[in-house]
Amino acid sequence: MPDVLVAGAGPTGLLAAFELERAGLDVLVLERDAQPTTQSKALGLQPRSVEVLAERGLLAAIEPHVQVRLPAGHFSGLPIGYTDLPTRFPYQLGVEQAHVAAAIEARLRTPVLRDAAVTAVAQDDDGVTVTAGGRDHRAGWLVAADGGHSTVRTLLGAAFPGTSARISLVVADVTLAAKPTGLADGWQLPSQASGYLLPLSGGRYRTVVFGEEQQRLGRDEPVTADEVQRALTAAHGPGIEVGEVLWASRFGDAARQLEHYRHSRVLFAGDAAHIHLPVGGQGLNLGLQDAVNLGWKLAAQVRGHAPDGLLDSYHDERHPVAARVLLSTRAQAVLGVPDPDAAAVREIVTGLLAVPEARHAVALEISGIGLTYPGVSARADVPAAADGRAVLAGAALPDGWADRVETRAGAEPQLVRPDGYVVWSGGPGLEDALHTWLGQPTTAALLA
Ligand SMILES: Cc1cc2nc3c(=O)[nH]c(=O)nc-3n(C[C@H](O)[C@H](O)[C@H](O)COP(=O)(O)OP(=O)(O)OC[C@H]3O[C@@H](n4cnc5c(N)ncnc54)[C@H](O)[C@@H]3O)c2cc1C
Repeated sequence: MPDVLVAGAGPTGLLAAFELERAGLDVLVLERDAQPTTQSKALGLQPRSVEVLAERGLLAAIEPHVQVRLPAGHFSGLPIGYTDLPTRFPYQLGVEQAHVAAAIEARLRTPVLRDAAVTAVAQDDDGVTVTAGGRDHRAGWLVAADGGHSTVRTLLGAAFPGTSARISLVVADVTLAAKPTGLADGWQLPSQASGYLLPLSGGRYRTVVFGEEQQRLGRDEPVTADEVQRALTAAHGPGIEVGEVLWASRFGDAARQLEHYRHSRVLFAGDAAHIHLPVGGQGLNLGLQDAVNLGWKLAAQVRGHAPDGLLDSYHDERHPVAARVLLSTRAQAVLGVPDPDAAAVREIVTGLLAVPEARHAVALEISGIGLTYPGVSARADVPAAADGRAVLAGAALPDGWADRVETRAGAEPQLVRPDGYVVWSGGPGLEDALHTWLGQPTTAALLA
């Protein structure tokens, strides 16, 4: 029996499984789709995600698929320079989400169980029984990372308050039989609030459209090549001709977030926990950071050495971060509305973002680099311990902690949580920090 089941083999579920396996747990990922997807919603990785993937040795397998390094992000299409961010990676990586997921999946010990859609969840005092692909699976815990339409969320009747979609958009990857003049050739990340046509690799183009027709059609209406053609002709004139629609989907600007990320033995992460308009490119970043925040805490809980409240600190730390992203994306959506009042606000915001301090503050937020949590002093960006332990650098480790802390030489004393955040940086308080984040020392080691 695995220690933990994970519903959903998107980037969030896969990274959560990787983190749990790294900490020595047995994990089984249950995925609805029969094959890994080749379709990519996200086209970019924010700097903090790049750091996290690099710290875990996952970046090397992604690098060959990177099409562009963009030294900027954007706020509703207004460029936000990243070059002065305090990171080794002051840029967004232009890479399709499917390559990120594939790189993580390739490093899992236990293969993903596919064709295994979760259809029922029952939990009791000892564990969780999940029905997937017609079979029952039992484990101590379930990580629900089954995306924006989360079945687990529905099955549990979890409150998911927020705002409903007011606009409807279509994303499509297409080939073009005829191109409008002036269309850029190189691979680019979207920089507009919404509504764009961008070249990807291999002769494919990514388009997002949201005209009157999209508002009229129902959410479940299939996207046809004719619909995409009409929208592109309206935007680019008669010189554009769609060849093939390779993938298309409808999405909206609903902004919702779970009230509670933990439901007894079920923990929600990624789009299953929060949805918003994907403007500014922050959804994938949020999901990946959920996964690394949750992984070590759940592993400590399963191993029985989690201090009181550690697992609940997953909700306490991550819920406000997603709430802030929802706020940001709602503001960005308003700035993108084509009306004179929104244009007036946009002009004012453009002026504000020309102030270096304001631009830097927004860059820290959108890139994820500025994120800290209560009780955490900084982000560390040091290589993570291969076995998911915390890292103590530049100081002697008290007895009884070696199973949870890897020691390293280093001039700068710091204790780094397994998710890369500094919780002690010299002076008194090392023992307190160890107890706060890692529980009690191992008694056997103390008696030896
Ligand atoms: C058009 C568009 C563009 C975007 N662009 C960006 C961007 O540039 N940058 C960015 O950061 N974010 C972007 N996002 C958001 C980003 O793609 C998501 O936030 C990200 O995919 C979330 O990952 P996830 O693993 O939580 O969910 P998902 O990627 O949705 O993965 C969920 C997985 O669960 C599986 N599943 C579903 N139901 C079940 C079930 N019942 N049982 C088992 N498995 C199930 C699914 O098959 C899927 O594999 C974009 C989103 C859209 C729609």
